[in-house]
This record gives sequence, structure tokens and C-alpha cells, in this order.
Amino acid sequence: MKCPACANMDTKVIDSRVVEDGLGIRRRRSCEYCQQRFTTYEKVAVTDLIVIKRDGAKQMYDRDKLKRALVVAFGKNNFSLERIDEIISKLENKRSGSGKQIESKTIGEDVLDMLRDEDDIAYVRFASVFMEFETKKDFKEFLR
Ligand SMILES: [Zn+2]
Repeated sequence: MKCPACANMDTKVIDSRVVEDGLGIRRRRSCEYCQQRFTTYEKVAVTDLIVIKRDGAKQMYDRDKLKRALVVAFGKNNFSLERIDEIISKLENKRSGSGKQIESKTIGEDVLDMLRDEDDIAYVRFASVFMEFETKKDFKEFLR
């Protein structure tokens, strides 16, 4: 790993820590040349996952998009970005072995499964945003 300060290639790992319930590793590194210290972050990659939307359209899985939806669901006060990252990493890890394509509905259901134990308000908000209820009737039925 190249040193961000001096571009020297000889850097050593001085500390490794498992984060996000074992789904990521954070490494503290030190440059052997200039002693600059920096952090790298390693996690399971699911960048090539294809999401199939309800209308059949396909698009690349977008972690940031899912993250934004969760931030909205948790509202302004009641969340930590670390917790949201943890939730998403768990979901990615669960699905990364299940093939190259996934329905957006499945992702939504995964998130709802996790939010159910986490936060009632976020659960309902996420349901209304992500599941794209077409009529108020759907939503009322869901709430029941
Ligand atoms: Zn350096």
C-alpha cells in the first residue's frame, strides 16, 4: 500500500481490527520512510451485483443509494452512520454469495427484516419509501 504522504511503497501494518461484526477489517499502517500513519479499510466487495427492479429494469447495485434510503428512514436524529454501514454490510455479505442478480424487492425485504428488530419508525418509513406503495390502501394493509 502506497504512503499517501510520500508515495513510498514500503508501509507496514501496525494494527488490525475487525469491525462491523467481522465483515470488515480496519488496518492502521505506518510508512517506513516518512513515518506517516494512515488507515485502510477492507470489506467484502459486491460491486458487480445486478439489481432487478419491479418493472424489470436492471441496474448496478448502489450501496450509497441504499444508504441514503436508510438515512431517510432513520430520520434526522435517530441513527448513527456506523450502524447503517453495519446493517448494509451484513446484507451485502448475506447476498454476495447468492449469484450476480437480485430483485430490488428482496433487498427491501432483507432491510425490513433487520429494521423490524431495530427501530419501529425506521421500519415503517423504509417500507413506505423502498417498497413503493402504490396506493394508500396497500400501506394501510401493510401497517396491520
Ligand atoms: Zn511516507
